[in-house]
Amino acid sequence: MGLSFFAPMDFMKSFPDSANRVLISAAALKANYRLMSTTLPPGTPLLAMVKADGYGHGMIDAAQTFSAVGCRHFGVAELPEAARLRTAGIDGEILVMAGLLPGQEEYFAKYNLSAAVYSIESAQLLSAAGEAAGRTVSAHIKIDCGMTRLGITPEESVAFAQAINHLPGLKVVGFFAHFPEADSPKQSSNQRVFDTFSAASAALKRALGLSPRRHLANSGGIINLPSAHFDMARSGIALYGYTPDGVSQHAIIRGQPLQPAMRFVSRVLQVKDVAAGRGVSYGHTFITTRPSRLAVLPVGYEDGYQRALSNKADVLIRGRRARIVGRICMNLCMVDVTDIPETAAGDEVVLIGRQGNECVSADELAERAGTISYELLCMIGNNNQRELKNYDDSVADTCGG
Ligand SMILES: *Cc1c(COP(=O)(O)O)cnc(C)c1O
Repeated sequence: MGLSFFAPMDFMKSFPDSANRVLISAAALKANYRLMSTTLPPGTPLLAMVKADGYGHGMIDAAQTFSAVGCRHFGVAELPEAARLRTAGIDGEILVMAGLLPGQEEYFAKYNLSAAVYSIESAQLLSAAGEAAGRTVSAHIKIDCGMTRLGITPEESVAFAQAINHLPGLKVVGFFAHFPEADSPKQSSNQRVFDTFSAASAALKRALGLSPRRHLANSGGIINLPSAHFDMARSGIALYGYTPDGVSQHAIIRGQPLQPAMRFVSRVLQVKDVAAGRGVSYGHTFITTRPSRLAVLPVGYEDGYQRALSNKADVLIRGRRARIVGRICMNLCMVDVTDIPETAAGDEVVLIGRQGNECVSADELAERAGTISYELLCMIGNNNQRELKNYDDSVADTCGG
């Protein structure tokens, strides 16, 4: 690609900004990491999940921010994410949760990455790559204790560990599983998963004298199931300021609130007055019931502002709530500002975050769109110009605290 030749850094920097901006509070990320860490017993590390570009918050920015407050373990979904993290200078352990496909093994040795393993063939490939590179590759055995997703069965785990434990270029450093329902503490599956995992790790120790680092809890498990903290825990959504179940009262942990780290803002393009009885946007799904003032925004589903939010989401203008009316288009949407008549072109519009005394959270939007904060944060964060704000007062811009 000749792009860098034609677009040197100076030119890139002077490139115009989008009206739609995602602002990430470094202070919020740090506060959440500290809060979740102190929830664990002293000395138990917290692995920061930074997959999906840090749940939309920027994988490298998020990892560097967590690193600055002591994080030494990071989790990503796929190998390329891990390679990018390492290349960006992140040290500490980087665990690739998806493990590997044949042909990827050399990168694990090259970048000193840890792999989830659930097949003997992949363990052998990693070992061979480790030997060739003159090092050992770290492996975490992934067992499936009820999620029915990736991993070997608990019954297989002793034989599996035995088969890979002697491989010269591989070291089994971890043993882990994943909760399907840790966001609801009362689910009986939690106890079954816990029991199965405990028994499998005990069997490993009994049969092989092997005690790798055991980890089971996700954010829901950390918050709701303290007995499941084991030797490490993996947090994603809570580090970004939200709870898995989307219930805001559950975001208070030991008296301290999680701080939503993402703010999403746009600006008003045009303000227009329309008569009663006018259909708005594609399909005329909204008809004005009174003489109305509408604000047109340069944001749409292409920016992760889902079409499912049509006629449902509120935005904040001049510190007040206003409803999206009509279908959200690819790059435009309309807001009813009849009750905020002073609205003017150029006004800041908050789609996620605080403005004055009002706040729109990703949980609120997710509920209205029929999804969860996780998906919404990924879609909005990963489809907009994003900026990490380092100053500490930026917490005040989000819905936390
Ligand atoms: C994404 C993920 C997590 C983190 O889950 P949260 O609910 O975001 O805390 C933990 N473990 C595994 C295996 C994951 O895929």
